[in-house]
Amino acid sequence: MLSKKIEEGSVFIVFDLEWNQPIGGREYAHEVSELTGEIIEIGAVKYVYENGHLNYRGVFSRDVKPKIYTRMHYHVKKVTGKTTADLRAGVDFKDAYEEFSAFCGNGAILAGWGNSDTDMLKMNLKFFGMDDKLGMFFIDVQPIFSLFSGEKGRQRSVEFAVDYYGIGKSEEFHSATSDAKYTGAILEKIFEHNRPTEVLAAISSSTADPDVKREFSSVAGSEENADAAFRVAEAFTSKCPVCGRKFGIRIAPFRIRKSRYELAECSEHGEFFIRTRAKKNREGKYYSSSIIRFATQNDYFLVASKKEEFDEFGPGGAPVKKPEAGENPTYCDE
Ligand SMILES: [Zn+2]
Repeated sequence: MLSKKIEEGSVFIVFDLEWNQPIGGREYAHEVSELTGEIIEIGAVKYVYENGHLNYRGVFSRDVKPKIYTRMHYHVKKVTGKTTADLRAGVDFKDAYEEFSAFCGNGAILAGWGNSDTDMLKMNLKFFGMDDKLGMFFIDVQPIFSLFSGEKGRQRSVEFAVDYYGIGKSEEFHSATSDAKYTGAILEKIFEHNRPTEVLAAISSSTADPDVKREFSSVAGSEENADAAFRVAEAFTSKCPVCGRKFGIRIAPFRIRKSRYELAECSEHGEFFIRTRAKKNREGKYYSSSIIRFATQNDYFLVASKKEEFDEFGPGGAPVKKPEAGENPTYCDE
């Protein structure tokens, strides 16, 4: 995937969002899928990359007053501690976003923990009729932490990484501003504890352009058996979804339980992660659903660990185990 080169003077904006959710069972004037969350806080910290270090340059924090989901969802209230009355104290999203853009400036690199925040930001921009092009590259700090802490693809929480580096916990977690500060502190520590050239290489392989479609999916069916369903999926999974070129194989397809994994490469668009699942419909026939996405650091870990599992246990896979403490189950792939 295309990536941005980090140079002396490159600016990083580590950001985080909090959003309110629709109340289940309530009727809204729009499709809830068009706005699965409404932003209620934008938090960010700015760093400049100089001599192999990240130097802190300031903080941005805005509470946003929601227009659609004005009543605090009980779950969001539990996590953030914010109430319906707190929501009224915020500024308009449009104003908050303009101020955030000014804080970012031109040519900055966005960073965050996990990649749901860029998706949520774009969804809000689109919903409220604003330009949803961010015009910035994005790096996900989570897999970079995972790589340098020897966690090998484990999906850890921000608090786990904060404890790992012994960063002081003077602020509550789960406010956008404090989580952005903590994520920034983690990124600082990653540079501090490792060779900058290695950190930069890892960042390059995790860089994504949030304005480019990253994931493509297809459903094919229906066949008499799972083997046939996997076979017909190949019409979609054998070529690049961007340009249609035939894929080269990096890790040949292998099956674990109901999923088939592979890593492929387009000579023009780089490496792709591919996963196909065979499912049974109500009539007892089989169909397949496939996704192809620009491979990220997490995807390399995922395919490598599945391949290891396949080599050891075969297509039946390892006995299923529960997630460990500190692991974030919402990111789990299976
Ligand atoms: Zn291509």
